[in-house]
Amino acid sequence: MIKDNILKVREHISLVCSRINRNPKEITVIAVSKDRTSEQIRQVIEAGIVDIGENRVQEAHDKFYALHLPAGQPGNTQYAGRKIKWHLVGHLQTNKVKEAVKIFDLIHSVDSLRLAYEIDKHAAKINKVQDILLEVRTSPEATKFGFKPEETAAAINEIAKFKNINTKGLMTIAPMVDVPEKSRPYFRTLREFMETINVRRDAHNAIRILSMGMSDDFEIAIEEGANMVRLGRAIFGG
Ligand SMILES: *Cc1c(COP(=O)(O)O)cnc(C)c1O
Repeated sequence: MIKDNILKVREHISLVCSRINRNPKEITVIAVSKDRTSEQIRQVIEAGIVDIGENRVQEAHDKFYALHLPAGQPGNTQYAGRKIKWHLVGHLQTNKVKEAVKIFDLIHSVDSLRLAYEIDKHAAKINKVQDILLEVRTSPEATKFGFKPEETAAAINEIAKFKNINTKGLMTIAPMVDVPEKSRPYFRTLREFMETINVRRDAHNAIRILSMGMSDDFEIAIEEGANMVRLGRAIFGG
């Protein structure tokens, strides 16, 4: 079933991309596996998805070490010969940062300078440059976390001073809506926002990742420029 779901998702992505003239290869599908088992993650990987998203550090930790034995070796995240990338998509508390930097390739939910400071500190201790996205609160109803849009550019500049963090892009969570189309303004806001930020940066310093869109609205998000979509139910069912 997971395999069929993934085929369907790929098909939808191809259709949207051909309609708007984008290359489907630009779109990274993250299988958000919160509340799912390591066995289900194995199935996802076997079906060809190598990007795994989790919401909570402890839960990710358990599955990470179930899939990537022997434990305690950061960087050793091969599975069946493929490099698996772990994404933290949920809110990160500062007391979980030490563990988070050992596990995650990309932290999508950086929502304060204090958190960025902690990430930098712990990443430095393990000689890592941690890739992150800044979470932007495009809608006050969707979540209480995230930088306000007007704070984001300044936050990126501050975080650029940290040696062990690399800001790769932006993430947003759209509010719950009855029809996917209603998510469009939030996605558009994030994309325009990234464009505005990049106007003031050299091309080689541009931020490029736009993490937006979930099971109900990923097609709209792709139309608005998403290059990472975070899919739970569309892949695992339910
Ligand atoms: C759960 C979750 C997802 C996936 O949600 P679905 O609607 O099941 O696709 C994506 N992003 C975040 C931040 C989540 O918490």
